Amino acid sequence: MTSITLRKALADAPAYRPGKRPDATAGKQFKLSSNESPYAPLPSVAAAATERISHSNRYPDAGGSAITAAIAQRCDVEPEQVVLGAGSVEVIGQLMRAVTEPGDEIIFPWRSFEAYPLLALGAGARSVKVSLTASLQHDFTAMRSAICDRTRLLIICNPNNPTGTIVEPGEVEEFLQSVPPSVVVLIDEAYFQFNSSVGQPNGVELFHRFPNVVVAHTFSKAYGLAGLRIGYGLAPTAIAAAMRTVAVPFGVTDIAQAAALASFAAEQELRVRVDALVKLRTELTRALELQGWRIPPTQANFFWFPLGKRTGEAVKCFERHGVLVRPFDDEGLRVSIGDDEANAALLAASAELALKLL
Ligand SMILES: *Cc1c(COP(=O)(O)O)cnc(C)c1O
Repeated sequence: MTSITLRKALADAPAYRPGKRPDATAGKQFKLSSNESPYAPLPSVAAAATERISHSNRYPDAGGSAITAAIAQRCDVEPEQVVLGAGSVEVIGQLMRAVTEPGDEIIFPWRSFEAYPLLALGAGARSVKVSLTASLQHDFTAMRSAICDRTRLLIICNPNNPTGTIVEPGEVEEFLQSVPPSVVVLIDEAYFQFNSSVGQPNGVELFHRFPNVVVAHTFSKAYGLAGLRIGYGLAPTAIAAAMRTVAVPFGVTDIAQAAALASFAAEQELRVRVDALVKLRTELTRALELQGWRIPPTQANFFWFPLGKRTGEAVKCFERHGVLVRPFDDEGLRVSIGDDEANAALLAASAELALKLL
């Protein structure tokens, strides 16, 4: 026993469960548990990052001037409205710490990104989880009803992690019209590049039209830089300044900043990769449906297997086939789209599982 005192709120915190990592002693394994890109960084991106390593005795450019300017130009915003973070998860944490007092409420859909309740806890805010609809979409009516005078922030995750589902066209816009301007609405678009559905809201455009909208984007998913930790937010100037106040000082390395800039320069090549993954997604979900599975329509680089009580059994079957997936106990599995080899292993496992469970 020690005499130190931990924050009481942390006692019942759910532990963040990172996607399972390959076990070096096992046979060939495919990591489809963290929504990562299956493609290694492009040579031009790797070269830009490598060049910065030799300067690592120096602190990074804390303001991230070059990458901030590039983001501001692409999004047609002021550099003051761009906030960098060690992944957009850090940006979302900054936003929570910037707009909530202890006990204030943050509304978000559930199930959604597991980091939301943890980040809210860290900020001292209360999580208000609003269940997804039967079609696993945001329930905007219920989210609107959940707003009270303690609500400071509301999150829209589109496409939603872990379900891959998207909002209906026009729905977000109508919702934003109905939200009191004192409530900040974060649009988390970590996977928007994979969303090929028409009529979808565009966070950057909504940022320009609504004074209470903040947008979060990341280089981790479509740009394939998950290991380097860089993401950004677009926020109204005053909120952006507050977010910088609570940011981790020097949290974004020069290596990450250089890789992000080089990624913008290589956008065409990266687009080809995103398109390839979208095609694999279509093929994979179709093949699963032919095996008899019903997969909720996905617009992300992952899909959701609603397996309920059979989830644990399914995880074991996938693991026997070398496929690491992300289970949510008694609810289902989230599976990232991998390369051809990984997807073939996945289909072999799901075929075996279909014989048992369907
Ligand atoms: C992956 C993810 C992020 C950001 O991840 P970072 O690696 O921190 O940039 C943000 N939101 C959702 C919903 C995600 O799935």
